[in-house]
Amino acid sequence: MAGQAKSEQEILENSMHEDDPNANSSVLREEEAFTPRWGPSHKGAQELANLYSRGKRIQECISVGVSIVLFMANLLCIFYYIRWENLTTFLVAGLCGIVSADFMSGLAHWLADTWGSVDLPVIGKHFLRPFREHHIDPTSITRHDFVETNGDNFMITIPLLAHLLWGFISMPQTQLNKSFPYRCYLFLFAIFIALTNQIHKWSHTYFGLPKWVVTLQEWHVILPRKHHRYHHVAPHDTYYCITTGWLNYPLECISFWPALETIVTACTGSKPRQDDANWARKCS
Ligand SMILES: [Zn+2]
Ligand SMILES: [Zn+2]
Repeated sequence: MAGQAKSEQEILENSMHEDDPNANSSVLREEEAFTPRWGPSHKGAQELANLYSRGKRIQECISVGVSIVLFMANLLCIFYYIRWENLTTFLVAGLCGIVSADFMSGLAHWLADTWGSVDLPVIGKHFLRPFREHHIDPTSITRHDFVETNGDNFMITIPLLAHLLWGFISMPQTQLNKSFPYRCYLFLFAIFIALTNQIHKWSHTYFGLPKWVVTLQEWHVILPRKHHRYHHVAPHDTYYCITTGWLNYPLECISFWPALETIVTACTGSKPRQDDANWARKCS
């Protein structure tokens, strides 16, 4: 099965310069230099960027605010309950939470990239639009501020963190001790879900990253820049996990995403990535 995985060299060669602003000019053919197929001047990218509304901005600000308050409250509870004897539990459960977050980042990313369209009510303009924009203008994310980058991911964590906090407040001590591994798992899962798009943004950032971020990328603790380029090869059909990226190669080896797409197409008749391809065709 491993032979079916795209070789790293093959993908990297194809993906080079997809989002590297320094490298772009050297690979464009002469005629393409006047009609770039990606970037801020792409007609589709401009149209998508203009769909970012005031209402969406308000939703993101509220999500970030509520989520941070819940994070702080849960963090205090974790500190209150953690002991030397349950430190290993915290680390193992936390690691499982991080791996789960990586998988969920891939699943959500795959769903948003592959199915649905920007024309769908509510979710189209608000939640699918950034995924379409990102493929035809991969550098746009580097121009988004903290709220625009992270608002949706922080929103997803609100029910998880509220559930976690309610348990800390309402459960008796004995029950909390028993469920401590689950609580550590959920806490780290929520943290890494919240940080996913920030980590993704760093993987597209070539200048001015703090040294500790570059170190975490180089050690592959978080998504490295070269690793994420594999996803940015048209038709953007692999390497969907964008939190740590640890699951990308194993999932590629077992053809996980194509298998899921075959099932969805068999059940619904929909073809994958049609809306994505339509936006990519809108030339500048
Ligand atoms: Zn994508
Ligand atoms: Zn990306």
